[in-house]
Amino acid sequence: MLVIPAASLGGPEPHQSRENVLSVTRPLFSVPTAPLVPIHGRQEGFPIHRIFCVGRNYAAHAAELGNTVDRVAPFYFTKPATGLVIEGGTIAYPPGTEDYHHEIELVIAIGAPAFRVSTDDAMEAVFGYAVGLDMTRRDLQNAMKEKQRPWDIAKAFEESAVIGAITPAGDFQPNSQRISLNVNDSLRQEGHLNEMVWSVPEIISHLSRYYHLTPGDLIFTGTPSGVGALQPGDRLQGAVEGLSPISVTIGPAA
Ligand code: MN
Repeated sequence: MLVIPAASLGGPEPHQSRENVLSVTRPLFSVPTAPLVPIHGRQEGFPIHRIFCVGRNYAAHAAELGNTVDRVAPFYFTKPATGLVIEGGTIAYPPGTEDYHHEIELVIAIGAPAFRVSTDDAMEAVFGYAVGLDMTRRDLQNAMKEKQRPWDIAKAFEESAVIGAITPAGDFQPNSQRISLNVNDSLRQEGHLNEMVWSVPEIISHLSRYYHLTPGDLIFTGTPSGVGALQPGDRLQGAVEGLSPISVTIGPAA
């Protein structure tokens, strides 16, 4: 293998620990990787870089959790890319909760770099859209909110994000499409995309002031009202008019 002496790079004199870093050739062990997301009309899968999520983006949902919305600025939390699951299978009821909730959401798939983009230019960064679920340990979120602590334990866990096939932006433009979630064939969540407090271009423009958005980034855009608790065995069917529907079953407790 090739070891480039630090001196030839114009850097400081070689140091033992630096040489060790340069000589690394293979990982000590393998780690999980994020799944490739299917894309309509393409053989390639969409690789995942990061998962951003918008909080409180439908007024009716904010109200049902006792929150109000404002137009000052959107806010975000994140999930690990390895916590993403492709729809169609079973996800385990997660540990540490007795109030495991569904949140059906429109997902934006970023396909071009975006940094400090205006709302007028923001849509150029969109590769496509999908239906997703932001799975939430609501009891832990409430406990963290009460103590003004971070939400990670409530939002960023294994199998905490579900996604369906991506539809390219040429075939879908978000406007007032219906978004809905059925649990065991009864309607639990319903709304329309024009009820979002922050629109798709507004979210991308704002987020791009804080991150260099990169192809492979996903943005979950918030959930309409009707969130609620799930039990092992529940069957979820989520939809946004014009996109591939998703279905997932809640498995036994992990
Ligand atoms: Mn959400």
